[in-house]
Amino acid sequence: MTSRTNWTSRQILKGSGGGENIGFYGGHPRGIRANLWPRCAVCGAPMCHMMQIDAGLAVDLGGYERMSVFICHATGGRCEDWNPNKGANKVLLHAEKDDTLYDGPPTVRVYRRTRLVPGEPVDELALMRRVKANELTMSQALSSIKHDKVGGGAVWLQGEDTPKSKTGPGNMRLAVQFTTDVVSFDITPGGMGYIFLDPNDVSPEAAYFMWQSG
Ligand SMILES: [Zn+2]
Repeated sequence: MTSRTNWTSRQILKGSGGGENIGFYGGHPRGIRANLWPRCAVCGAPMCHMMQIDAGLAVDLGGYERMSVFICHATGGRCEDWNPNKGANKVLLHAEKDDTLYDGPPTVRVYRRTRLVPGEPVDELALMRRVKANELTMSQALSSIKHDKVGGGAVWLQGEDTPKSKTGPGNMRLAVQFTTDVVSFDITPGGMGYIFLDPNDVSPEAAYFMWQSG
């Protein structure tokens, strides 16, 4: 029996068949009404859907059941979609999973729908203890978790940039880290995306999305 802490991560893997499900990269999202489809605050275009991740054994979404992640691809990066404060990306948090509603505009680009399953739990605190004990170098430890994952800590490409909670003490916690390996998302090749949740914010605005280039 393994228990989950904020420092337990699970790799996000392409999957099929039964068993535990994390959600989907790409495809058309479920449960989003056309009038609620996020538009880019910079250019006004409907944003491109990237992923829907479901709460469960592998993922703690702070009481929400599902997150839907969008990014602006309408202007080839001019909207600064990596910037969490520009409104050129958006994370919706849903209180319920709705797999029946199929609505919304055609998007500027649609990634192929890819089912996601979790890898084995990784205790990242134990990993860092091995670094302290000189059993591993920090770079070996980080390279072992430099993949698509839910939970644990962020592996930064351009320097540590963990967001502070906007509504209370402490930092936000990492919910999802993604690369261009599983699906070739249109962030710079080798780039890494990070979705954080504000642990002090119970509103549907509690998520924070940013990415760094490789
Ligand atoms: Zn835009």
